[in-house]
Amino acid sequence: MPARQWDPASKAKVVLEGLQGRPETAICKRHSIKPSEYRLWRKQLLAKIARSFASPGRPSTGKVSFFSSLGKDTDKSPEALRVARGLIEALPVPVYFKARDGKHLGANKAWEAYFGVERESFIGKTVQELFSGAPEVAAKHQAADEELWRNPGTRSYELPVPVHDGSIRYTLNYKATFAGDDGRVAGLIGTIIDITERKRAEQRQAIEHRVTRLLSESETVAAAMPGILAAFCESLGWACGARWSMDPKAGGFRCEETWNVDDPEIAAFLAASRETVYQPGNAGFIRRVLGTGQPVWIVDVADDESFLRGKQAAAAGLRSAFALPIRLGDQVLGAMEFFHREEQLPDQWLLDTGVTIGNQIGHFMARKQAEGELRSSEARFRGLTALSSDWYWEQDEQFRLTFISSRFAERTGVDAAPYLGRKRWDQPALNLGEADWERHRAQLERHEPFFDFEMERTGPEGNPVWLSVSGEPVFDQDGRFRGYRGVGTDITERKRAQAVLRAAYDELARSNAELQQFAYVASHDLQEPLRMIGSYTQLLERRYIDKLDQDAREFMGFIVDGATRMKQLIEDLLAYSRVGTRGKELRPVQAQIVLDKALVNLRAAVEHSGAEITHDPLPEVNADDGLLAQLLQNLVANAIKFRNKEEPPRIHVGVEDAGGEWRFAVADNGIGIEPQYFERIFMVFQRLHTRDEYPGTGIGLAICKKVIERHRGRIWVESAPGKGSKFYFTLSKVQKGQK
Ligand code: ADP
Repeated sequence: MPARQWDPASKAKVVLEGLQGRPETAICKRHSIKPSEYRLWRKQLLAKIARSFASPGRPSTGKVSFFSSLGKDTDKSPEALRVARGLIEALPVPVYFKARDGKHLGANKAWEAYFGVERESFIGKTVQELFSGAPEVAAKHQAADEELWRNPGTRSYELPVPVHDGSIRYTLNYKATFAGDDGRVAGLIGTIIDITERKRAEQRQAIEHRVTRLLSESETVAAAMPGILAAFCESLGWACGARWSMDPKAGGFRCEETWNVDDPEIAAFLAASRETVYQPGNAGFIRRVLGTGQPVWIVDVADDESFLRGKQAAAAGLRSAFALPIRLGDQVLGAMEFFHREEQLPDQWLLDTGVTIGNQIGHFMARKQAEGELRSSEARFRGLTALSSDWYWEQDEQFRLTFISSRFAERTGVDAAPYLGRKRWDQPALNLGEADWERHRAQLERHEPFFDFEMERTGPEGNPVWLSVSGEPVFDQDGRFRGYRGVGTDITERKRAQAVLRAAYDELARSNAELQQFAYVASHDLQEPLRMIGSYTQLLERRYIDKLDQDAREFMGFIVDGATRMKQLIEDLLAYSRVGTRGKELRPVQAQIVLDKALVNLRAAVEHSGAEITHDPLPEVNADDGLLAQLLQNLVANAIKFRNKEEPPRIHVGVEDAGGEWRFAVADNGIGIEPQYFERIFMVFQRLHTRDEYPGTGIGLAICKKVIERHRGRIWVESAPGKGSKFYFTLSKVQKGQK
């Protein structure tokens, strides 16, 4: 079967079936065409129709092109005309025809639906008759028609028109003339596109934009409100508006700001409103809004019994009213009311727009309140620093310094001006590098507080100025970060003193190390010649003892004795110098075990003296066990050595918890010490007795002191002659988790 030839009119007819509602599959089956083919035809046809209406720039032919293009040869065939009518009827946009005399010829189904009018009732009527209630709409249409009769072709214009339910729709009107059989303009075909949604979106955006600008330029709501009310009324055609708020002083609701069109009666109505204070309650217009947080719409103010000002409003020529809340979340901060001179039906869009603006205002009020609170807390903070030598500073969200109190310049001699408006890291600090600043900046970006951030700046004479600043982040009521505030202090003096101390300490450490080295080397090297003296005197004694007289023998005895003592001194000195150099790491050790070890070394002395040694339960301490054993051994040995002649030594090793450390005490019942020697006895070679009374070199306590210093503890004595002595020392506790 040869494929059927499709002319434009036949194609249009097929497309029409679809527009009239027949399913696409059924159409394709019936005409044996592919769905893709059908869709292509539909697309082409609709595009052609659209072009006919929307091409005001084309040279006028006096014809609507798509009618004539349906088929060149079938121009006047009844079939083509039928198809065209069917098409128009099925179009989803309102379409109508008008004769050259301005009377309507017909319209499609969509037109009927749009205006809510039966088409029969409008055929034969002029635009004036159709829009009798809205003469300005009729005039605008009329003017457009006149223009077309003069210059045939197409025309388009926007116009708000009233529709059946009384509401206003924004329309985009397209009109095109068509020619009669004689080729002259016979009438026009028009279509309407509803652009209400777009129009309203634009309007809403414009109002919101204006409100945002007004709020951002105003310090208070009161300053912004008249402009906001005007923006709303002017762009939407309402006659007046007012803001209401709770006035805690007056104990009721008060009308704050108003705006109205130029009309003395409306102005008087608003003036009366401003004078009344309403007690809280749920009746009335504004009170209902404030009480429920919901908008209220009154179609006719004169009819509403609960609306107390309704009569006055009606007398001022006002008809419809609506009011909506100004809110912040659930909180109702106030209300806005608007009045119209004509009857207005509840309009959801209008209410939505109003509520959005109410929310904008609510946020603004909350922000202003938070700013006020922030300012007063800042004032308190600033006040605190006024009495101290520190200064106060503030930074904004971008970390730029916005305020530095005058104390800064007074204290440092540095001009604050170059720092204002800049970030801390915009100016160099001699002690800080890129990485330090980066760390500081990261901390600020995390909105963390910071403490004692030290900077070395340069003073007016190029002198170093050390600053220490601490700051805390500032957040407003909504939790938004608003910057930093804090204090600063001049630490130049402290830094200088620290530097001097550091130098002195370094010097001391150096000379100590040198001394230690010297003591070690000296004592070590002295041993050799000493050994020589010792061995040669022994040799002399052995070989020549017979040849020596009594005096010489006695002198020999002194030499041997001196050499022995010197040997002891050197050994003690070596032991002393080793305390500092050979120290091990401090680690947890059982003091009990260490004491036992020390007592083993003292067994002979203990037995010989009949000493009685007791002790408390001893704790675990942080120590070098070898040194600690030496310490305990020296103290217990002294306690035995310096016993009184009357009774055997009684020695007690006690311990007490002194907070962060242990305080040990080795107490004896010996001879005691005079208070003026309490410090001296801890020095090297310092003794209070002759060797004949009590043997020794005077180095034992010096070693104890050094041992304790290595443990970062303290050692001291309490005693009185004849009353025994008590040697105290402290050791740090073992921290949890240290082991
Ligand atoms: P040494 O015991 O060799 O004399 P130390 O440095 O141990 O040297 O002691 C210094 C001095 O302190 C002693 O000579 C003594 O006078 C005094 N001393 C030390 N311990 C006691 C004690 N437990 N009781 C009385 N005096 C003491």
